[in-house]
Amino acid sequence: MIYLDYSATTPVSYEVLDTISKVTKEFIGNANSIHALGEKSAKLLESATKQIADIFGVNASEIVYTSGATEANNMAIIGVAMAHHRKGKHIIVSKLEHPSVYAICDYLKSIGFSIDYVNNDAEGLIDFDDLKAKVRDDTILVSICAVNSETGVRQPLKMIRQIIKKENIATLFHSDMTQAIGKVSVNFHDVDLASMSGHKIFGPKGIGFLYKSSMIKITPLIYGSGKSNELKPGTPPLPLIAALSKAIRLATTDLEKRERFVSLLNEKVVNFLEKYPNIKINKTKYSIPHILNFSVMNVMPETLIHALDKYEIYLSTNTACASGEASHSVMAIYNDVKRSKHTIRLSLSYVTTTEEINKFLDVFKEEYEKLSTVR
Ligand code: PMP
Repeated sequence: MIYLDYSATTPVSYEVLDTISKVTKEFIGNANSIHALGEKSAKLLESATKQIADIFGVNASEIVYTSGATEANNMAIIGVAMAHHRKGKHIIVSKLEHPSVYAICDYLKSIGFSIDYVNNDAEGLIDFDDLKAKVRDDTILVSICAVNSETGVRQPLKMIRQIIKKENIATLFHSDMTQAIGKVSVNFHDVDLASMSGHKIFGPKGIGFLYKSSMIKITPLIYGSGKSNELKPGTPPLPLIAALSKAIRLATTDLEKRERFVSLLNEKVVNFLEKYPNIKINKTKYSIPHILNFSVMNVMPETLIHALDKYEIYLSTNTACASGEASHSVMAIYNDVKRSKHTIRLSLSYVTTTEEINKFLDVFKEEYEKLSTVR
């Protein structure tokens, strides 16, 4: 098998699996219970959370566990909307967000919020002048993805924050960092809120977190009991939390060295694909090397993906969450309908090997050239 869909999800690493198994067996108490078994679990919860907080240079109380990034995005965006609607009902997002952000915005729009979509330039970078012009007195939130899941375009969050806060100091800034964490460095101090998901970094599915600065208030979406966190009451899923903490520690080591290796693999694929006049590479100078998007203009991407399936080579059309639809991110950057309907996303990891890429290129050549001549 050659797995080239690491941005859709990753397998759980052996070390992380080990943690899940150990914690499940050895920490049976509810972290909210007051007896010794509960206290033992509460202590592990505390140390796992502290480890995450230390890695990102924030306080443990600022980490709110969620089932993943979709829930974290909901908690952040709806939570801000509910807490701050008396100050304003205006929210700005980019044209390069994950579908979950647009679904949340559609809901907020249906209950009276107004949503603005900030433009980006031809390289996918947020148009700073447009952002500046769009931030108003009643803008309560700006949400901009750190790394776009389809094209890998990375945004300069620090600069974006400065622009937002200069226009309106009260406007909060959220970033979906799901595709950034574990691939490139991030700084939570650039934002007020950040979302992430464990299954993108060799952790289990069903766990992630929202970073929420202690300086800001949001309204909880979930109500219940338990002492762990007012935004996420209930029994903390300790095996998943300990696993997430382990996965984050493993994913954030040697980032630069791993990125350099992934860049070499990316360049190898780009050099190969560039030889075909009917393939357009959807990569800008801001794309991180882990996500490589290209459009096969003369073949339906699904046909090619299924042809590669037979060799147990796995890639996506655009993202797993929007499979079969035109890529709105490629559209936002290239403004080309056909190009955005013909996308393939190949996503790499530091665990991808040169041999895997060589084999992929051999099979791709054979299958793509066959499909190209059929037409
Ligand atoms: N945001 C981004 C940028 C993503 O790539 C994804 C996963 N496709 C999500 C949010 C949703 O994450 P989850 O599957 O953990 O809900």
